[in-house]
Amino acid sequence: KYLFELPKDTCAVSYIDVDAWRVITQRRQEIGEGTIQACLTVEELSEAAVESIVDKEHEAIAFYRNFTHDNLLEIFNSGRTSISFEYERYMSDGSVRWVRNNVKFMTDVDSGHLCAMLFAKDIDAQKKEEAELIFAAKMDKMTMLLNRETSMEYISETLETEGNKKHVLFMTDIDNFKNLNDTLGHQKGDEFLVVLAKALKNCFRETDIVGRIGGDEFFALMKNTGAVSTIEKKAKEMLSVMRKVCANYPGMDMSGSIGISMYPEHGTTLDELYAKADVALYQAKRTGKDKYVFYKE
Ligand code: GH3
Ligand code: MG
Repeated sequence: KYLFELPKDTCAVSYIDVDAWRVITQRRQEIGEGTIQACLTVEELSEAAVESIVDKEHEAIAFYRNFTHDNLLEIFNSGRTSISFEYERYMSDGSVRWVRNNVKFMTDVDSGHLCAMLFAKDIDAQKKEEAELIFAAKMDKMTMLLNRETSMEYISETLETEGNKKHVLFMTDIDNFKNLNDTLGHQKGDEFLVVLAKALKNCFRETDIVGRIGGDEFFALMKNTGAVSTIEKKAKEMLSVMRKVCANYPGMDMSGSIGISMYPEHGTTLDELYAKADVALYQAKRTGKDKYVFYKE
């Protein structure tokens, strides 16, 4: 009666007699190009599980390391009838897939022994789709920079976890961008913003945070900065990059203005730094545009 067809999305099912401490039966099937290792003993099974789990900090590792009769009995006696883990695991062909691993406890009708049924269900496609959705929700769809909310979240996190270092917030807004929209239309305006976003992102390191605030406004947190001269060099680089992208649209009188605030000098929270960079940006606009301005009290 233990011989049954596995559902399509199931890599393996193992039925273990916990009291007799033996594997009663195991059924496996190939998912993708790989399978799950066949195991003749419970020890083999738990060792294979530990080895196969990619994330060595995963709670399932501890579960399979402590996979003993007494521990399973204790879990069962505590009233839990099933345990479930989701993790990435190596398959026999070396590929990695997301699986949901369920462990169900039951009393075997024939022997009266405590038994455990272990399922490994393939959830790879579902997990990848979820990850894509999470990624998409963090991005500005048009420019593929981080969106406002996510960049703000990441910047705040940085200020908290790396609060002992110096950081700089650059806020930038394109000068006379409306000219482009009004003359060549919104679609050309969008194209410009996409190219500009990429160029701005390239000014920064991968670990810095570059995001689109909205419209023609962007911001960037340059982490762990040194001397003011380094910050000025970066601001000049941004100005030059913006001039270059704007030069593709002659006659529009476009350039970029930048407001700069520094952590911790000008504030210790993103709200303060943001407000002050905004003041500095306004100052840059008011005093002729195409320039950078540091916040001043
Ligand atoms: P300033 O020099 O003062 O910055 O003037 P500006 O012409 O750049 O105008 P401002 O920054 O105040 O406004 C930005 C304009 O950008 C307003 C809006 O019509 C336009 N805009 C906002 N979002 C988008 C977008 O996603 N695509 C396009 N094409 N235009 C946008
Ligand atoms: Mg503007």
